[in-house]
Amino acid sequence: MVKFMNKVKKTKAKVRLIRYTGAPGELIASAARLCYAEETETIFDQDPGQAEKFVGMLRDMGHMSPIEHCVFTFYIEGVSRAMTHQLVRHRLASYSQRSQRYVTHGGFDYVIPPQLKGKKVKDNGAEVDAERYFEETIGYLAGRYVKLNEALGSSGESSNEDARYVLPNACETKILMTMNARVLLHFFEERLCLRAQWEIRGVANQMLMLAREACPSVFNEAGPKCIRLGKCPEKKLTCGKFEKIKKRYAKLKKLVA
Ligand SMILES: Cc1cc2nc3c(=O)[nH]c(=O)nc-3n(C[C@H](O)[C@H](O)[C@H](O)COP(=O)(O)OP(=O)(O)OC[C@H]3O[C@@H](n4cnc5c(N)ncnc54)[C@H](O)[C@@H]3O)c2cc1C
Repeated sequence: MVKFMNKVKKTKAKVRLIRYTGAPGELIASAARLCYAEETETIFDQDPGQAEKFVGMLRDMGHMSPIEHCVFTFYIEGVSRAMTHQLVRHRLASYSQRSQRYVTHGGFDYVIPPQLKGKKVKDNGAEVDAERYFEETIGYLAGRYVKLNEALGSSGESSNEDARYVLPNACETKILMTMNARVLLHFFEERLCLRAQWEIRGVANQMLMLAREACPSVFNEAGPKCIRLGKCPEKKLTCGKFEKIKKRYAKLKKLVA
């Protein structure tokens, strides 16, 4: 019989870089040198400083396949199911996510959109604080989840799998994700764009800081796609802040250099 802790609390995103390919710059440089080497004996003996420069040159030339040899594994928690639903659309990655079948969600953490702060909800002729309204809704759903789980026999996996249909998108989840460096650059281009949703953009920002530190030669110039393109490709949907964004990423680059 499953025990319910009918308790909910709010949370926020925390990203950790759990593992990455050791000496990534040197491996990428070796992979690229192999393509042109008549003499292959020494291709894995790289001077780290030279390797970093060489990788920067490859990146600028768009010779990207050697970059794929390096992988980065992130552990992301304190995020909503709404966020991970967007994350897993990036198909060229590996994921392991905490299950809502095997793990009973009698009590769960939740993510609350900061945009609700200070807003009012009109309901039944009354004006209610939007954050409070949101939290009450979460509490209501958590209670209903417990009751439905009980009705389904509180047996764990088989009752969780149906009771979970009432769990909200705000429900906290944890996910382990591995991406190679080339895919990661693409992910940053898409999800650091101001058009990306705030929660996945926040996660992408945390990931970028960690990746820059681990492998500056690949990620030093990473950012939303407007940074590589030198202009925004979003036409009418543009945020109109290209100059400001360009300055921000130029400043970040100096911090790591
Ligand atoms: C601002 C924003 C708004 C969005 N809005 C929506 C939306 O309203 N609805 C929606 O459904 N999605 C939406 N998305 C998600 C988006 O359409 C992509 O699914 C997501 O960004 C993953 O991108 P990707 O396919 O390039 O990445 P990945 O799946 O990681 O693929 C990386 C690259 O590999 C190549 N590739 C991968 N698979 C294939 C394939 N099968 N065939 C050919 N090439 C492939 C492509 O070049 C691709 O760019 C949105 C994304 C953003 C950033």
